[in-house]
Amino acid sequence: MTRLLITAGPTRERIDPVRFISNYSTGTFGFEIAKEAKKRGWSVTLISGPTCLKPPVGIKLIRVESAAEMLKAVKREIKKCDCLIMAAAVSDWRMKGPSKNKIKRKTGKIVLELTANPDILFEAKKTKKGAMTIGFALETEMLEENALKKLRGKRLDFIVANKLSAKKWVFGDTQSDILIMDKFGNKEYFRRRKKRELAKIVLDKVANFNI
Ligand code: C5P
Repeated sequence: MTRLLITAGPTRERIDPVRFISNYSTGTFGFEIAKEAKKRGWSVTLISGPTCLKPPVGIKLIRVESAAEMLKAVKREIKKCDCLIMAAAVSDWRMKGPSKNKIKRKTGKIVLELTANPDILFEAKKTKKGAMTIGFALETEMLEENALKKLRGKRLDFIVANKLSAKKWVFGDTQSDILIMDKFGNKEYFRRRKKRELAKIVLDKVANFNI
C-alpha cells in the first residue's frame, strides 16, 4: 500500500496582523488527488494551506498557514510516507520581518522587504531519502522549458505542469490541461480533462512508476 503525503492550496505569508501575501490557488487539484488515493485504499495525509474546500472524509488533514508551517508539517509527516506530491502553491517569499502591529496608512511609497522561503521539496528529500517526489508547476510562459528546469533542478520523479494565460484561468476550475514530464524523458499532454480525471492519471503514474 502506498503511503501518500500530499500538499494542497496556497500559503499565506503575514505582512502584519491583518494582511498577508498569497496566491489564487484553491487547493482543488490536490484535494481531488487525496480523495482518489483514499478511494484506492492508499494511506493519505493531506497538508493544506487555507482553502474553502470541505475536508475529505476519512483523510488525515493538517491545516497550515505559512510556508514555514507547511515545511515543518511535511518534514514530520514524510517520515511515515513513501511518496510526496507537492501540489501546494507555496509562496516563494515571505516578509523579512512581519510587523507586530497593523502598518499605518501613510502617503507616498511603502516598501515591503521580502526574503525567499525554503524549498519544501528539497528539504523533504533530505529528510526522507528514497521517497518518491512529484512536483507541480504553474507557468505563464515557456511551459516545457520551465517545467523541465524544475523537474531537473528539484530532482523530481515527475512534474505536473500547466499554463496560465489571459485566456485560460486555472485556479478553482474543475477542468484543466496538464503536461506530465518524468525524469526518464517521457512527456505527455492531457487536455481539457476534469481535475478528478487528472487525479486518476497522476496516481496511475505514481502506481506504475519504477523509481
Ligand atoms: O513555485 P514553483 O513553481 O517553483 O513550485 C514548483 C514545485 O515546488 C511545486 O510542487 C511546489 O509545491 C514546490 N515548492 C516547494 N517549496 C517552495 C516553493 C515551491 O516545495 N518554497
